[in-house]
This record gives sequence, structure tokens and C-alpha cells, in this order.
Amino acid sequence: MKNLKYFYIEPYVYINYVKHKAILYNTLSHKYFIFDNPDVINFIKDLKLNNYVYEVNDDTINKTELTHFIKTMLDNYFGDFVKHVPGIKPFVFSPHIVIKEKYDEQDFIYEKITDQVYEVTLFLNGNCEFNCQHCGTAYRQINTCTKNESNIFDYNIFLKLLQQLNGFRQFSYINILGGNLTKFNLLQNYVSLLEKLNAKKIIYFNAIQCIEYIEILNSMNYKNTIIIIQFYDLHNFEIIMEKLKNNAIKFEFIIKDMNDLQKIDELLNHYHQLNYSLKPIYQNNMKFLQEYIFTDENDFYENELNLNDIKRNLVLDSNFFGKIFITSNCDVYENLNRMPIGNLTKETLKESLANAVHENSSWFLTRSKVEPCCNCVLNTLCPPVSNLELVLDKMNLCHGTN
Ligand code: SF4
Ligand code: SF4
Repeated sequence: MKNLKYFYIEPYVYINYVKHKAILYNTLSHKYFIFDNPDVINFIKDLKLNNYVYEVNDDTINKTELTHFIKTMLDNYFGDFVKHVPGIKPFVFSPHIVIKEKYDEQDFIYEKITDQVYEVTLFLNGNCEFNCQHCGTAYRQINTCTKNESNIFDYNIFLKLLQQLNGFRQFSYINILGGNLTKFNLLQNYVSLLEKLNAKKIIYFNAIQCIEYIEILNSMNYKNTIIIIQFYDLHNFEIIMEKLKNNAIKFEFIIKDMNDLQKIDELLNHYHQLNYSLKPIYQNNMKFLQEYIFTDENDFYENELNLNDIKRNLVLDSNFFGKIFITSNCDVYENLNRMPIGNLTKETLKESLANAVHENSSWFLTRSKVEPCCNCVLNTLCPPVSNLELVLDKMNLCHGTN
């Protein structure tokens, strides 16, 4: 055989392949190349199966299909040749996924599950006198208020919950929502109790609930707490801004269409200092989402991933993992688009959480488990599945990148 040598791929390059395509993604330069030639795909598979090093000779390299592949790799610092020494195969520290924790072992579930929770969303009450069109759907996409037939979160269960959360080592955020929180007389008592938790508190109000509540909002000043007013339209905006004196309050503008974006753009010309963010949601606005939210290939260039990001995408959904939701009737959810995993009137939070750790939980909903992403070569590089996708029951909010 003519001129034996080894061709290797650098350890910082991630390789993925599906039936008809293969991708090599360089986690240092963030460049990637997709190949669809069957010979090249087979060669890439061999490379991956042989820990990124494969013996080649001049005949292999000069096969026209592989010549282009190898030249692309060499020109872009994805790989190189190394001299052949009989009996000594070079070793590349190719990326392997090692999952330390076993999510299917009962012991692990019971002992370690509370360490996984870092964000808790609590609905303190469920009643509200308004009738927003989005009430039944928006809360399944973003943190926002919703009605629930149960009026208020039971005080004694609330105290027990705080005790339990105190022992959760990674617990860092607690979101407080209603119903109409402005009509919940005990809100300040509950929030004061939350101050003892070593976690950032975020309290959400819907702007339509706030007009008669501005004086209280102005006086709210809790430790380690952010208050957010959400606008679904800009009806009350001027009145609220005129009366609001609490500079610590942030704003969220919910976006459904281009009209919303234009109005907010005009308004921001007058309020330069506003601390705000935009939250797009689905509300019979597929065309808008397709135009402005769906990902395309440019997003992958901008979305600079390292090997840890990719490994994480292989095993869990970072949009969902570690988050739990508790409604005012004490139902516990790992995701509000799924069925409850427990109820705090019957069991502890830890007992409910054991039900969040299973193969089909949203915490572990990787793109390799859903159609059509499982057949797409970008499935580990794409952003994780989002609530928007769960609500739409469409797992590929992309422009046909597959
Ligand atoms: S203000 Fe919030 S809770 Fe009340 S109806 Fe509207 S979305 Fe539902
Ligand atoms: S959303 Fe799914 S189908 Fe679309 S590019 Fe990403 S992985 Fe591929």
C-alpha cells in the first residue's frame, strides 16, 4: 500500500451524523461543514468510531470525494495527518459523553433530585376579574399570570415548602405569579417570608391589574427581588409610567405581531432609560413567528457553542431542566405543558420531584428524541426544545435547515 499515514480530527471538533448527512463543528472557530456524499459520510463515521484517527493511504486520499473533504479539514484546522509508525496508533482525546449520575436509579432519584432544582415558579393565587384572550395559553410559554379555580396557596403548605427549598443546594430563583396578585391581601406577608430564602425573587404583574396598585408598587422594596410589569398591549402604559416612581421595576412587552413591535419601537424613542425585554408568544400568529422567530442557518453561526454546550444538548433540555412550577392548588409540574407530577397537599416536594426524572420528562427532551429533529444533522447544535414548540406541537421552528 502506498504511503500509509494517519488522518486525525482535532479533539475540539464535534462530529454528528444522521442517515444522509454528517456535520463537523469546530468548537474553537465555530465553523462547521455539512457533507452529504455517501463515501464522505462513511469515512466520517469510520473516523468517529475509531476515536478520531483513521489509517489512510494515497489511494484513499486521492478518491475525488475524500480529497475535497480532507482538504477542507486541513485548510480549516479541523484535522491533519500524522506519520505512520507500525504498531503505534496515535491517540486523540475525542469528546465522549460521560454522565456521572444515573437518572434511572431509584437511589439517585431520591438522594440527588433536590440538587437539580434551581428555579421554582409559584402561583400564589388563582383568581382574577379580567378575561384576557391569552389567559389559558401564554402562561404555558412564558412566566405570566393565569387563572386557576383554586384561590390562594395554602399558608401552612407555603411554610413547609420554604423549609424544603432551604435545603435545595442549587436553588437560585423563585418566580411569583397569580391570578391577580394585586387582589391577594397577604402578598406582602408571603413575599416577606420569601426574603429568608437564599434565592433571587422575581414578582410578575400584568399591567391591566396595576392601575389601582401603583402606590403599593412604589413602596415595594424587598431584598434581592425584581418586580416586573408585563404589557400585552400598551393601553395603560402612559398612566402607569406617569405614576410609577419605583425605578427598580422592570418591564416586559409581550409580542404577538409586527404591529406590537412597531408600537414598542415608537414608545422606546420617548423612554430611553427603560429596563425592558421583549417576549414573543404564539397567539394565532404563525406567519409572524415564521418570519421573526424561526431559526435559519445564520443563527447557527451566531450561536457559538463549546463542547460542554453540545454535551448538554445530547442529554437534557436546558430550557426546562431544573425548573419546577407549583400552582395555587399545590399541583407540582416539571413543565406547565405536561400533567402534574404531584401535589403538595399529599406529598413533599422531594417526593413529587422523583416523578420528574424519567425518560419522557421535558427535562430530558433532547432534539434527538423528537421528529423531525432526530433525522436532522443539526440536532445537537440547535437551541433546545422550547415551550413555544410544545404549545405549537411543532418541534422544528426552523427554515428547513435540515
Ligand atoms: S390578567 Fe392574567 S390572570 Fe387575569 S385574565 Fe389576564 S392573563 Fe388571566
Ligand atoms: S429545529 Fe430540528 S429540524 Fe430544525 S434545524 Fe434544528 S434540529 Fe434540525
